[in-house]
Amino acid sequence: MPRMRQHLFDRDLRYVIKPRYAARASALGSHSHWIASILIAVAVAIWLGRAPDASIDRAQPDANDTAVLKAQIASVLVAEPPISKAPTTSVQTLPPPAGMQGLAALSMPAKQTNHATKAVPAGPSTPAVGDTARVALAPPRDSLTATIPVAPAPHWQTVEIRKGDSLTRIFKQLGLDPRHAIIIANKPGARVLKNLRIGPHLKVRISDDKLVALQYQQNLTTLLRVATTGSDYSIDTVKRQFDITEREVTGLISDSLYRSALRAGLSDQFTYSLASIFQWQIDFATDIRKGDRFSVVFEEKSLDGKKAGKGAILAAEFVVSGNHYRAVRQVSKDGTSAYFAPDGTSLRGVFLRSPVAITRITSGYSLKRFHPVLKKWRAHRGVDYAGRTGTPVMATGAGKVIFAGRKGGYGKAVILKHGGRYSTLYGHLSRYGKGVRKGQRVNQGQVIGYIGSTGLATGPHLHYEFRVNGRHRNPLTVRTPKAAPVNAAEKTAFLKHATAWAKRLNQLTGA
Ligand SMILES: [Zn+2]
Repeated sequence: MPRMRQHLFDRDLRYVIKPRYAARASALGSHSHWIASILIAVAVAIWLGRAPDASIDRAQPDANDTAVLKAQIASVLVAEPPISKAPTTSVQTLPPPAGMQGLAALSMPAKQTNHATKAVPAGPSTPAVGDTARVALAPPRDSLTATIPVAPAPHWQTVEIRKGDSLTRIFKQLGLDPRHAIIIANKPGARVLKNLRIGPHLKVRISDDKLVALQYQQNLTTLLRVATTGSDYSIDTVKRQFDITEREVTGLISDSLYRSALRAGLSDQFTYSLASIFQWQIDFATDIRKGDRFSVVFEEKSLDGKKAGKGAILAAEFVVSGNHYRAVRQVSKDGTSAYFAPDGTSLRGVFLRSPVAITRITSGYSLKRFHPVLKKWRAHRGVDYAGRTGTPVMATGAGKVIFAGRKGGYGKAVILKHGGRYSTLYGHLSRYGKGVRKGQRVNQGQVIGYIGSTGLATGPHLHYEFRVNGRHRNPLTVRTPKAAPVNAAEKTAFLKHATAWAKRLNQLTGA
């Protein structure tokens, strides 16, 4: 930077006027010029280091998810149209070369520094100091040091969204009018800007302290774009499609379904989705035994060759105590999807097989007929589901609450009536579900209470009864109505589709 220092030195007129003062000024002058030079270099270094794509590139060696996400974002943003306005300084159009980020930029050629300083208008005040002052005033947040650029040519700056950040706050920190953040976030389609995701998901282009454009990476495949149109803003969304491949997993149940599925590489969430397809057929709390098996074929989503989560379950099978339960996904012409048995009959019953979600069930449950409190044998006209106190209990069918309160040995109990013939009872509850009162309607799967040990119970569990026309029936074996099968118009196509799936499942399970 010798040339630049020379340039500033020449314009210091105090030298000519007073020799004694000049000596002091000389010392002072060269000192401040030296600081100014360093500060410019640091500013350029920080700015280059924080260039949008540079920050993403540097993050890539970081392991796994965040790196994948950042790479995805980068690839989406790369597809953006080039900057339309010709920039006024060449430095800003230069892509940050590898190895020129951070401190490495301190040793950058003097030529480029000159471009940066040339852009500053020559005036009576020392321009270099003026610019470094902006650096010093920049907010302490790393990402926002991107506000450094000396010339107004707009380029993309990445803003790292932190916990508690709002668009308004970010606008303030970028020196933009925060009222415009509100205007933008209130636009149709821009609501997502009211609740920002933490991370480097925001990019802005600013010119003359005004927003030129903004991009927000809503999720892996969705990019929200905001552009200035006159005095207003326009919003649009760019959506990418995942690449879909099929994957299959088979598993042998050796302890609980969850642990076995986890060992087979399936998450809790996925196993829950899988189990819920069969929730009308299989009571995962009581039916599953060691040696049972499952197979599932599902969609694996990926973006640019990187896995991005699981999609729909296409077909699945459970082999429980030698019985085969199969499900095939059917997508109707109207786009809705449902699971059916390969013969086209519905898998959905009017009643759930179990009032307790599989996730909450403790293993090792067995039906007891010797009453543990009364210490005598007596009829047990229901099923007991083991579970921790506070485990949610669901209505197995849609219906009306006909009783909610204390009921002798049942403790806190809820009785639901489902149409004219059926009723269900849930006993030993620790408390009732929200809004569960006599006369209220509940939906299937709605939480009507929580497992407890009120009434005659040695420990927390749910006592569940099923009655048909007022008479007790075994909830595990009672035959209850089913939902509609595949509709007639689509049945032929479905059966063909299902036959192919049946073959595939046969191969998977070796049946
Ligand atoms: Zn019981």
